[in-house]
Amino acid sequence: MAWKESPTAWRTTPRPLGWKALRAQALERDGGQCTWTDGGVRCTEPGTDCDHIGNPDDHSLDNLRMLCGPHHRKRTALQARAARGPQPSRRRPAEQHPGLIR
Ligand SMILES: [Zn+2]
Repeated sequence: MAWKESPTAWRTTPRPLGWKALRAQALERDGGQCTWTDGGVRCTEPGTDCDHIGNPDDHSLDNLRMLCGPHHRKRTALQARAARGPQPSRRRPAEQHPGLIR
């Protein structure tokens, strides 16, 4: 059975009116830079995508941040995974080869 996955399928909320203005405000506040931090170090790429930090229905400026393309894709993939809920592992636990047991 083919199972087609889309990383953006979880998003059903349309962008609100005035989205462009909100995005512009977030971009200005974040200095036009990606806000992703990894180990306390902020990404130095230009912020090209506007991301919802928490609730995707909350379009307040406090809930928005700029990310670069790669970090937005990473973020969206994490969200999509979270939206699907915990998945059972598809990998079986590694079994030791009987011939290796001493
Ligand atoms: Zn980034």
